[in-house]
Amino acid sequence: MTPGIVYLVGAGPGDPELLTIKAKRVLGAADAVVYDHLVAPEVLELAGPGCERVFAGKKGGEFSRPQSEIDETLVRLALEGKTVVRLKGGDPFIFGRGGEEAAALAAAGIAFEIVPGVTAALAAAAYAGIPLTHRLLSSSVVLLTGHEDPSKPGATVRWEDYARLKATLCIYMGVRNLETIARRLEAGGLAATTPAAIVQSATTVEHRRILGTLGTLAELAARENVDAPAMIIIGEVAAFSETLDWFEPARHQALAR
Ligand code: SAH
Repeated sequence: MTPGIVYLVGAGPGDPELLTIKAKRVLGAADAVVYDHLVAPEVLELAGPGCERVFAGKKGGEFSRPQSEIDETLVRLALEGKTVVRLKGGDPFIFGRGGEEAAALAAAGIAFEIVPGVTAALAAAAYAGIPLTHRLLSSSVVLLTGHEDPSKPGATVRWEDYARLKATLCIYMGVRNLETIARRLEAGGLAATTPAAIVQSATTVEHRRILGTLGTLAELAARENVDAPAMIIIGEVAAFSETLDWFEPARHQALAR
């Protein structure tokens, strides 16, 4: 039997309309779809009724498959001759372990394609009215993970270093460690008055955005019970959200119906 193919597909941040046309096409042609918990149900529905659906698990949650098992599943399905879509939240190559999965497919000699998606940092910024770059205020953007416990020895993100970049910092998976992250950026010289925002469940009905400063954001987030998934954006450009915040989840839902 000729082996199938695996598409590593970015499903975008939540709003199904942010899916690419290519993602929609390959989903429609899929024999099997292996999906993550952050993928919207409307996106999953684009796979045909006969398509096999495999839940790959919730990261950090009560049910989570080991990465090796996901890799094996993709290889097995492809060896059965199937067209497989591996559907991931956001973009598969941004904090999505898409690199590991592509490497496993390459090692097994399975054909694959990568379909990029709108990553959470771009979506959260756009829907909160935060231009990530600005001619006068920000010439670079950094995508960081806040998942690691910043106090653990040997942590790979050296927060103090990022304080000096004058870049817009977009932090994924950072809610739990926000207090420590903020204090370390301040220790590195980033002013406590630097504008900062958190966007929770960006682009979905649950979308909400909280605006503050580096000095106040952790406390605000705790008071408002901000929970994952949430994007933290730190930098002068975050202040634009005061005037450019345009997204109204309720109205958006009404329009989508
Ligand atoms: N591959 C994904 C990121 C996976 S890591 C991407 O490219 O977007 C999961 C983290 O992404 C979450 O903890 C959160 O920080 C962020 N995230 C994903 N979806 C989000 C959303 N709708 N709103 C805000 N942050 C989101």
